[in-house]
Amino acid sequence: MENSYKLLKKIQSDFIGLDTQYKRADGKKTRRIYLDSTASTLMLKTAYNAIEKFYRHYSNTHSLLHFSAKIATQNYHWAHQRILSFVNADAKNYACFFTGSGATAGINRLARVFRDFQPNRDVAIVSLMEHHSNDLPHRKHAGKVVHIPLDEHNGQPGCINIEILKENLEKYKERVNYIAVTGVSNVTGIINPIYEIAELAHKYGALILVDAAQMVAHMPIQISGHKNPQRNLDALVFSGHKTYVPGSPGVVICRKDILSLMEPEEVGGGMVDQVHVDRYTISEKFPDREEAGTPNIPGTIGLAAALEVLGTIGMDHIYEDETKLINYTLNHIQQIDKVVIYGEADNRRCPRAASVSFNIRGLDHGLVAAILNDYHNIAVRNECFCAHPYVKEMITEELLSSGIDIKNIDINDELKIKAGMVRASFGIYNTIEDVNALIVALKDIVARGSEYEQQYHLNQDVEYCHKSFHPDISEQFSIENFVSDYLTNL
Ligand code: PMP
Repeated sequence: MENSYKLLKKIQSDFIGLDTQYKRADGKKTRRIYLDSTASTLMLKTAYNAIEKFYRHYSNTHSLLHFSAKIATQNYHWAHQRILSFVNADAKNYACFFTGSGATAGINRLARVFRDFQPNRDVAIVSLMEHHSNDLPHRKHAGKVVHIPLDEHNGQPGCINIEILKENLEKYKERVNYIAVTGVSNVTGIINPIYEIAELAHKYGALILVDAAQMVAHMPIQISGHKNPQRNLDALVFSGHKTYVPGSPGVVICRKDILSLMEPEEVGGGMVDQVHVDRYTISEKFPDREEAGTPNIPGTIGLAAALEVLGTIGMDHIYEDETKLINYTLNHIQQIDKVVIYGEADNRRCPRAASVSFNIRGLDHGLVAAILNDYHNIAVRNECFCAHPYVKEMITEELLSSGIDIKNIDINDELKIKAGMVRASFGIYNTIEDVNALIVALKDIVARGSEYEQQYHLNQDVEYCHKSFHPDISEQFSIENFVSDYLTNL
């Protein structure tokens, strides 16, 4: 325990980009405070170093007999095994495979797999808090999609409403093919009770798919091995770029018996045993049969290295440590005049991980995000975070006061200014000092809001732009300049 804590403290400063500096609108050059980990995390140095070291041995895992091919193949295989053990999925019954560049490819794939696995069931159930990537694939592939609303907490939403979920399972019974639910919301950070939902799904013969894009880097996961096997998960998806390894692939973990019953969605090299001009036989081996084509080998090596680090610290310690940071953030920013936090803000009643979204009354989210960047060097995300139905549900009050019927609106340019929030999100490298900087900045913005507002105008993309501060981005980094300097210095 003590060692885990010490290791966590050491690792917290071992990331690339923690010391990146930019010049602000007031002319001062300061350290960037990165509060946008829910979009993409910074890169863990161990992962970067592992990839760099591996490049000396780089070769295709489909080659067989030379030294480098053996090294690549062995480590690529290890990466799958490490991911399975990281999420506590029993390797006999679950396969891990890599997809395109994020979780989205994996969810689309599983929506098609589940559709074909239980073709007589045409209903998919999702929650109202899903990211579009765990909503639209089901709309496109699954048949009918039912959206379950969220618990009510004095006008603020909590996690998925279990009673309404039960009612819908009862209503659609054997029509329900699967429930697809996020483990952690990418907007509020609110955590869903995924094992309880799994148990309910299984009671009705339905499957469960967990979108763990916001979960894997922040809290422990147990796919299988529950005392009550009904609580085991059927499939889980996550992204490497939200797990401290930008450039790594999306990850799918799924029950092998589901995958084995069908021809894999994607076909090509590496997943077949025999190919004749008139037929082919698909490999029975996992993950080979699910991974047609040459995979992103370096990305998976980095991801496995990162998970090895996180696993050695222990995800329970990481969750505990991040919970302290989230509590500190919630407690302090909700005391700032005019700040509205979205979602139940009492972490004991409704646990959260990683994200806190808010607005400052009277100031547009885009303006606040721009000021945080330009005057405080704090990187946050704003707008609707690819979760329009959820965000619209929460900003009802603001929009109603501007006379807009929110449920039926499209978020067009005019509305984009109003419809949205600011999100501060964390990774293991964030500290109390980072949160204190956010608190100071928000207080400053509340105090000097109209003064700041005059410094900005809206451009044709409806984004807030500073009237006089126009830093040359290519001075910070440009591929062209980098290559040119490199070649000059050769
Ligand atoms: N689900 C959730 C909860 C997310 O936050 C995201 C990314 N913001 C996705 C899915 C999609 O992930 P990716 O961009 O890696 O495809």
